[in-house]
Amino acid sequence: MYDVIVVGGRCAGAATALLLARQGHKVLIVDQAQLPSDVRLSTHLIWHAGVDQLQKWGLLDAVVATNCPLLTGFSLDMGELVLRGTPPGTQAEAALAPRRLALDKVLLDAALEAGAELRQGVTFEDVIREGERVTGIRGRLADGSGFTAHAKVVVGADGTHSRVARAVGAEVYNESPKEAGSFNLYSYFTGVELDGVEFYSRPERMIYAWETNDGRTVIGVIQPGNAPRPARQDMEAHFLQELSTLTPGLAARVKAGQRDDEWLGGAIGTFCRQAAGPGWCLVGDAGVTMDPITAAGITNALRDAELASTLIHQGLSTPQGVDAALADYQARRDAIAVPLLGFAQEMAKLAPPTEDIIKLFMALAGNQKQIDRYYGLFGQTVTPAEFFDPANMAEIFAAA
Ligand SMILES: Cc1cc2nc3c(=O)[nH]c(=O)nc-3n(C[C@H](O)[C@H](O)[C@H](O)COP(=O)(O)OP(=O)(O)OC[C@H]3O[C@@H](n4cnc5c(N)ncnc54)[C@H](O)[C@@H]3O)c2cc1C
Repeated sequence: MYDVIVVGGRCAGAATALLLARQGHKVLIVDQAQLPSDVRLSTHLIWHAGVDQLQKWGLLDAVVATNCPLLTGFSLDMGELVLRGTPPGTQAEAALAPRRLALDKVLLDAALEAGAELRQGVTFEDVIREGERVTGIRGRLADGSGFTAHAKVVVGADGTHSRVARAVGAEVYNESPKEAGSFNLYSYFTGVELDGVEFYSRPERMIYAWETNDGRTVIGVIQPGNAPRPARQDMEAHFLQELSTLTPGLAARVKAGQRDDEWLGGAIGTFCRQAAGPGWCLVGDAGVTMDPITAAGITNALRDAELASTLIHQGLSTPQGVDAALADYQARRDAIAVPLLGFAQEMAKLAPPTEDIIKLFMALAGNQKQIDRYYGLFGQTVTPAEFFDPANMAEIFAAA
C-alpha cells in the first residue's frame, strides 16, 4: 500500500514524486519506458518560472552541470523592430534548455534519493476502484504479466495521451484541434553562433534558436498547423529556404554549422482536462497540454508538481483527507493555466497582427520596463491579465 502512485516518471511525474517523497510519503513511480531516456518531440526550453522551481528544489546546479548553459539574453525580431529584454521578478534570472535525458534524469534521481520507488516497464491500463474512489492501478509488465498496486491517491503524469485521464473519465474543455495549432519543424546543430535566445516573428511564421546541452543548438521554424507541410525528403530544403528568405543572418550562421540530428516536428491538439476526482489527480500534459509555440509545457509541469504535491501532502496529513485537499486544485491550476493556454492557442494561429497589436509593439519600443514585462508573459512571471490589463496598456501608450 503506497501513499501515492505516480504514473509517468518524466518532468511532471518525477517532480511530483520528488516533492512528496521529500515530505516523507511512500511514493511509487511507474513508467512504461526505460528511464532516463530522451524525448524527441520537445525543444526543451524551460522559462524563468520553471528555472526558479528547479533552483528552489536545489536541482538547478545539477541541471546546469549536465553541460547546459543558463540563457540570459532574449531577442524578438519583428523585422523593423527588435525587442531585447528579460522577464522581471525571477530568482535565477535565466532560462534553460536541457535535453530531456538530462532534465528528467536529475528530477528522477532526486525523487529516488528522497525515497520514491521506481518500476519501469509497467504500462498502466486501468485504475482500481472501491465504489467511486480510485484506490490503485492495474497494468502490464513487458513480459505480458499483470501488475497491480494500491495507494491513497493516483497521480496521472502520463502525458498528453494520458490513459489515466481516460480511465477516470476526466472531462476535457478549452480544446483546440492540432490543425488550429502550430506545426513545428526543427533539428539540432553544432557550430552555430547564437546571440542568446533568438525569436523571429514573420508573416505566418515564428523562427527560433537557442542553445541546449553540449554546445548544440536547437533551431526551428513554426508555421500554422493547417498550412502545407514539407515531405520528409524535402524538410532540409524547406527549412533552409524559409531561413534564407525570412532570416538571412541566421541562415548564414546555420549554413556555417552542421546539422547533427534528424528533422523532427509535429503538431498537437491542445486542451485542459478535469484536474482531480476521488482518489486521483492529473499533472503536466495529462492535465493541460499547450501549444509548443510558447514553450510552456515543462514550466507548467513543474508548477503543477508543486501545487498538486502541496495539496496531496496536506490531504495525507489531515483528517479531511486527500479528496478535500484536492477539491480546489483545478481552480488554482486553471487560474494560471487557462489564460496561458488561450494565449498559446491564439499565438499558434500565426495570424497577421491586428492594428492594435502593431500599435502595441510600436509603443513598446524603447520602453525597457514594459518590454521586460512582455517577456514575462513567456517567462510566466507576468500573467496575460496583468500585461493586457487596460491600466497597463494605458501606461504603455502614455509613455510612448
Ligand atoms: C514539438 C514540441 C516541442 C515542445 N517544446 C517544448 C519546449 O521547448 N519547452 C517546453 O516547456 N515544452 C515543450 N513541449 C511540451 C513538453 O514536451 C511537454 O509539456 C512535457 O513533456 C510534459 O511533460 P509530462 O511529464 O507531463 O509528460 P511526458 O514528458 O509526455 O511524460 C509522460 C511519461 O508517461 C509515460 N507514460 C505514458 N503512458 C503511460 C502508460 N500507459 N503507462 C505508464 N507510463 C506511461 C511515458 O513513458 C512518459 O515517460 C514541446 C512539445 C512538442 C510536441
